[in-house]
Amino acid sequence: MQNNPTPKGGGEPVVAQNATTHATPAAAESVKTDSANKPAPNESMNPQTTYCGLLAIVGRPNVGKSTLLNALVGQKVSITSRKAQTTRHRILGIRTQGDAQYVFVDTPGFQTEHSNALNKNLNKTVMAALSDVDATLMVVEAGVFTLADAKVLSLLDDKKPVILVANKVDKMHNKEELLPWLKSMQERFAFAQMVPLSAKNPKDIERLLQICRPYLPAGPFWYSPEELTDKSERFLVAEMVREKLFRLTGDELPYSCTVVVDKFDEEASTSD
Ligand code: GDP
Ligand code: MG
Repeated sequence: MQNNPTPKGGGEPVVAQNATTHATPAAAESVKTDSANKPAPNESMNPQTTYCGLLAIVGRPNVGKSTLLNALVGQKVSITSRKAQTTRHRILGIRTQGDAQYVFVDTPGFQTEHSNALNKNLNKTVMAALSDVDATLMVVEAGVFTLADAKVLSLLDDKKPVILVANKVDKMHNKEELLPWLKSMQERFAFAQMVPLSAKNPKDIERLLQICRPYLPAGPFWYSPEELTDKSERFLVAEMVREKLFRLTGDELPYSCTVVVDKFDEEASTSD
């Protein structure tokens, strides 16, 4: 599947044709099994090789980075909003599947328009998150490439694999524009892979995990398999409240608002 250069129905991954500088890491050979279909044998007790890596999620505000992270992790760990700039903290999202552990970092979007102190700090957070990753997921909206996208792209290290995630394909009116647009993207940067998808489509998310898998180096897990984030429950609760505040207040509330949790009680969970 990964060798198919033609996107089908807007959802198939596209392998970069000039990906020589971003060749799949050597570890790929040994992990290219059909492990996704096999139950992991005796995960916790097994001394066999495990794979664990850090994958940064970058992109201008509002392209769907937090939505993607939540979907990759399988639970909400990062708040999302139609309003740009809601993610202020660096959020780790962890997904463990059999012998593979993916550690994703969702970075605050780059502020490309204003350059006040807060924005400078946001950009610093983004750069710090990128310095030690095994691969970067550059998220854009399918069919769109803005000046802000170009600025993000210009900051990426072209010696590390960068996977282009062309999100929101469901919003693309004319699917025939996808292939020429992908070609134009490949001319801008030697992406290791290009993956048109919708972060809201679970099948696409599963496929993206499989595409990312070869980039995980062999090594021990950093987190226990059931951990989903490095943030405390208290932090997540504060973030959820912040998200609701954004939704309810529209433009009245500045994005620099902070929530402090004094106390919280657990109730029986609803599924979402
Ligand atoms: P971020 O600023 O890059 O973290 O973007 P968010 O994850 O907060 O998403 C911004 C907006 O895009 C939200 O309203 C999401 O619901 C929406 N969104 C994210 N992914 C998709 C997608 O695949 N399709 C559609 N139609 N909307 C999406
Ligand atoms: Mg976000």
